[in-house]
Amino acid sequence: MNDCVFCRIVAGQIPSTRVHEDEHTLAFMDLGQVNPGHVLVAVKKHAASLYELDDVQAAAVARASTRVARAIRGAFAPAGLSVYQANGKAAGQTVFHYHVHLLPRHEADGMELTWPVKNPPRDKLEGYAEEIRKRLA
Ligand SMILES: [Zn+2]
Repeated sequence: MNDCVFCRIVAGQIPSTRVHEDEHTLAFMDLGQVNPGHVLVAVKKHAASLYELDDVQAAAVARASTRVARAIRGAFAPAGLSVYQANGKAAGQTVFHYHVHLLPRHEADGMELTWPVKNPPRDKLEGYAEEIRKRLA
């Protein structure tokens, strides 16, 4: 038996409040509801993180997230919407089945994400970029 909670939700073995479904994704209400209308978009086929997605899954999640985000905006008229996605424990991932949070936002809603900028000099920035470009070639 698969002990992944989101695989079990996809399979219908654990109840969820679904809002959208297509061949590759399932969108359902986050139980925690940081703000009303907080939805998770998960891939149906298990992938622990972003690194394991194939191109079809990646495109499907982007498409479904965009579509559901517009529906959330229509339903709740939030002042903003945060799209949050974590990979690995250090990033705050707690369920190791790829998913995206669509989180309606309001001024002073208590949601916090610190952004400790380092502002490195340009030559450092070029070095970081080169390490990434080499691996994309
Ligand atoms: Zn899973």
